[in-house]
Amino acid sequence: MTGQLIAGGSKDRHTRITFYFSDGSMLFYNDQRRFGQLRVVAQLDEVKHFNILGPEPFSKDFTPAFMREAFQKTIRPIKNVLLDHTFVAGIGNIYACEILFRSRLSPKRPARRISLADAKVLHQYIIEVLKEAIAHRGSSMRNYRDGSGEKGRFNERLSVYAREDEPCPRCQKPIQRIVQAGRSTFYCGHCQK
Ligand SMILES: [Zn+2]
Repeated sequence: MTGQLIAGGSKDRHTRITFYFSDGSMLFYNDQRRFGQLRVVAQLDEVKHFNILGPEPFSKDFTPAFMREAFQKTIRPIKNVLLDHTFVAGIGNIYACEILFRSRLSPKRPARRISLADAKVLHQYIIEVLKEAIAHRGSSMRNYRDGSGEKGRFNERLSVYAREDEPCPRCQKPIQRIVQAGRSTFYCGHCQK
């Protein structure tokens, strides 16, 4: 939430931690809202927050079959499950909206009603959207910066996120906004079923 790790450059007024490297370079941890933590541990699984994480989206454990099995165990809508980091690590709200749009799946569809064929489509677009976002350095909605301090440009490619009432790029019907589990969901009620 608005934290930044920036290599090089100089301190700003939100820099909380500076790492000094032996080659003279520096890494700044900027955290305006002070939500971050720094912990020094021998093993990552000593930290509870990492211990409960689901697989990484790019790992071999994250497959359509894995997804479908996890979906069967919940009564929640698919959008909420995609955002649940105990299911899969690291899909944020912007990307969950874009992934569901490309997959033509309604964010309100109960996860247990996702077929294996749907899960294959969903898996394909999870990988595609995340790869594109990484290639475009993420999405700078507010003050997000990547590790070299540059703004991400993926937000210019968003189809539905933060586009309430704008025409759907696929069917031209207006994009809708709803709130699910306290987060804004943007979707097309016409072509996402
Ligand atoms: Zn549409």
